[in-house]
Amino acid sequence: MENRLQAVRDQIVKAATHAGRSPTAIRLVAVSKTQPAAAVRAAWNEGQRDFGENYVQEAIAKMSELADLDITWHFIGPIQSNKTRLIASHFDWVHSIDRLSVAERLSAQRPAGRPPIDACIQVNVSGEASKSGCTPAEASALVAAASRLPGLRVRGLMTVPEPDLPAAQQREQLEALRALQHAINGDGHPLDTLSMGMSADLDAAIAAGSTIVRIGTAIFGARTVSPDRASSAPTLTPSPDTLS
Ligand SMILES: *Cc1c(COP(=O)(O)O)cnc(C)c1O
Repeated sequence: MENRLQAVRDQIVKAATHAGRSPTAIRLVAVSKTQPAAAVRAAWNEGQRDFGENYVQEAIAKMSELADLDITWHFIGPIQSNKTRLIASHFDWVHSIDRLSVAERLSAQRPAGRPPIDACIQVNVSGEASKSGCTPAEASALVAAASRLPGLRVRGLMTVPEPDLPAAQQREQLEALRALQHAINGDGHPLDTLSMGMSADLDAAIAAGSTIVRIGTAIFGARTVSPDRASSAPTLTPSPDTLS
């Protein structure tokens, strides 16, 4: 893992330099979903401080095992309404807000005494029906509305491009998110964050202006547990949580 983490850092520096950008403008979030707490601790020992998780229950279990470490936790998975309270209580960032009702719940449920949660609006730039995220057309209004909520600090936009695209189309989708950020900035909502770039599109995302890259496989190796198995399987098991 240590070597892979260093290789990813080197790749970020190289891609940023190639794009004429400062490597320090790019924040690396290590995506530790399905990985054991020990793997997070090992990365922390190598200086990694930002970690991303997709599944609330899994993340909270890890957080309690790692309570002795100063970690910035990022929630990056699809958000169910009945999980917003746990996300608002436990995470520092949330990247995957795709509707106003979720933004409102996260804001209202952010514990008093904690700073507003740093937030990104997830945009479905590929238009794939299966993918979460608001449409590009909805993004500006959602940013505007979410920016008025006291418990959130809206920082930017996040996307997960369609996998396995030819390079040119991959680039098109990443650049679409940057263009949207510029348009929204023009609407008077200054956004400083573009959360895009995964193991397979890291270089392209940095070339397209990413400021946060979310890297799992390239750091921790292939996930042996499928994300569906590792999740709390909400579609199979009724959640004991109730809407509140
Ligand atoms: C799993 C995941 C990542 C990391 O993907 P890798 O291909 O393993 O780097 C990044 N972002 C989101 C939203 C994810 O679900």
